[in-house]
Amino acid sequence: MSKERTLSIIKPDATRRNLTGKINALLEEAGLRIVAQKRIRLTPEQAKAFYIVHKDRPFYHELVSFMVSGPVVVQVLEGENAVAKNRDVMGATDPAKAEPHTIRAQFAENIEANSVHGSDSLENAAGEIRFFFSEAEIVP
Ligand code: ADP
Ligand code: MG
Repeated sequence: MSKERTLSIIKPDATRRNLTGKINALLEEAGLRIVAQKRIRLTPEQAKAFYIVHKDRPFYHELVSFMVSGPVVVQVLEGENAVAKNRDVMGATDPAKAEPHTIRAQFAENIEANSVHGSDSLENAAGEIRFFFSEAEIVP
C-alpha cells in the first residue's frame, strides 16, 4: 500500500444535474481525500489536448464537444492506492456494465456522459494533475 494522487473530473452531465456534492461524498466515503478542486469551463483546445490519447477513436470529436458543453470540476484525490481506488468507485466506462454501488452506475447517463473521469495509472495521474494544477494549489 502506498499513498498516491490521482486526477478526477466531474463531467458536464453531472455538474448540470447539480451532483458535485453527491459524487464528492462517494469519493470521500471510499477513503479518498480531495486535496485540490476547482470548477472550470474547459476550452476546446484543453479538452482536445487532455484526451489526445483517444484522437483516433471514433468518439473523439463528440467527447471533446461533450467535455466543453458545461462546467467541469477538476480535482486531485489523495489516499492509499488512490488510482485504483478511484477507478473502483467510478465503475466501468459503460454505466450499464458498472457495479451498482459505483458513481457511474448511480449517476451516468450513458457511455459518453458518464459523470466522472479518473486517471488510469500512476504515471498518467502525474501528467494529468500537472495539466490542471500547480503544486501550490494542492493542499493535503
Ligand atoms: P474511462 O473514462 O473509463 O477511462 P476511456 O478512457 O476508454 O474510459 O474513454 C474516455 C472517455 O471517452 C469515457 O469516459 C467516455 O466519456 C468516452 N467514451 C469511451 N468510450 C466511448 C464510446 N464507445 N462512445 C462514446 N464515448 C465513449
Ligand atoms: Mg480513460
